[in-house]
Amino acid sequence: MKKHNFSAGPCILPEEVLQKASEAVLNFNNDDLSLIEISHRSKPFVDVMENARSLVLELLGLENQGYKVLFLQGGASTQFLMTAYNLLNKKAAYLNTGTWSSKAIKEAKLFGEMVEVASSKDKNFNYIPKGFSIPTDVDFFHTTSNNTIFGTQIKEFPMFDGVNVCDMSSDIFSRQLDFSKFDLIYAGAQKNMGPAGATLVVIKEDILGNVEREIPSMLDYKIHLGKDSMFNTPAVFPVYVSMLTLEWLKDLGGIPFIEKVNQQKADLLYNEIDRNPLFTGFAAKEDRSNMNATFNLTDDSLKSTFETLWNDARINGLNGHRSVGGYRASMYNALPLHSVQTLVDAMQELERKA
Ligand SMILES: *Cc1c(COP(=O)(O)O)cnc(C)c1O
Repeated sequence: MKKHNFSAGPCILPEEVLQKASEAVLNFNNDDLSLIEISHRSKPFVDVMENARSLVLELLGLENQGYKVLFLQGGASTQFLMTAYNLLNKKAAYLNTGTWSSKAIKEAKLFGEMVEVASSKDKNFNYIPKGFSIPTDVDFFHTTSNNTIFGTQIKEFPMFDGVNVCDMSSDIFSRQLDFSKFDLIYAGAQKNMGPAGATLVVIKEDILGNVEREIPSMLDYKIHLGKDSMFNTPAVFPVYVSMLTLEWLKDLGGIPFIEKVNQQKADLLYNEIDRNPLFTGFAAKEDRSNMNATFNLTDDSLKSTFETLWNDARINGLNGHRSVGGYRASMYNALPLHSVQTLVDAMQELERKA
C-alpha cells in the first residue's frame, strides 16, 4: 500500500495518473511505441500538448480572453529571470513573502530598478504583509501566491493597475481565484500538477513586446508562443503527466470541487495543531496556507517519539524546510483526506503517550 505522502515537491500525484503514465511509457496509444521515444512533432504528442494547454485555460476559466499557455523547461526558477527579461524596462515592484520571492527579486535586479513594496523577513516570513502601496510607474507587480517553505498563502491579492505577475507554483489549481486579474502566471509542474521538468506559463499575449532589449530565443516568450511550446523539444513526459492530472481534476469537478476538499484537509490539520497542546503553528493564522501547513512541537524532547509515531503510520515527507525547522505537511490536490486523518491520529497518539 502506498505511503501517506506529505512531500513538499516533487509531490504526490493521483494513483490513476501514475498508472496511466506508466502504461504510456511502455506502450502509448496502443501504437507499440513508448511515449518517450516518439517524435514530439508526431500527431499523438501534438494532441497531448494541445489538450494540456486547453485544459489549463478551461480549468482556470481563462478561455477566449487573450491568454496563451506554454509548457517550458528550467523550472519556476527560470521564470524568475524570464519574466523580468521580457517585461522589465525600467522598474518593477515585488512583494517579498519568502525564499522564492527573494530569489525572484534577485534575478529581477539584473534587469532594472527593483522596488520591494513590503517584506515579512522581519519575522522569518511567517505572515503576509498588508496595507502597503504599489508605485504607479512600474512595469509590473510580482507576487508569490503561496509560500511553500513558510506555509503562508495570500488570501486577498493586492492588485496593481497594470501588469500583474504571479508565481503560483505551489497552489495553482487548488483554489478558486479570479485568474483573469493576472497577466502572467507561472508554476513549476512538480507541486500540484506533474513531475519535475515542465513549467507552466499562462500569459496574456498583449503584455509582450514592450521591452527594448534583445531577448535570447530560449528566453523569449514570443518565440515560444509562435511555436506553440515546440520551439525546441518539450519535456514530453512531464507534459503528458500534467495533462493526465488536469483531466483527473476536470473529471472530479475542477477547481470548485478540489477547493472544498483542500479546505477540509486544512481545517482538519489546523484544528488539531490549535487543539493539541504539544503543537504550535508557525504561520500567522489569517495567512495560513491550505497547501503547506508548518508547525512545531512545543517540547522538543518529544521529537524522536513523534518521529517513530509518524514513521510507523507510514507518513512520508513531514520534516520542515531547513530554514523553518519543525514540520511541514504539504497537502496538495492529490493527497487524500484520510492521509491527513492519519497524521492527526499520530499527533493525538503522541498526546496520549507524552
Ligand atoms: C518550488 C518553487 C519554486 C522553484 O521551482 P523550480 O521548478 O524548482 O525552479 C518557485 N516558486 C515556488 C513558490 C515554489 O514552491
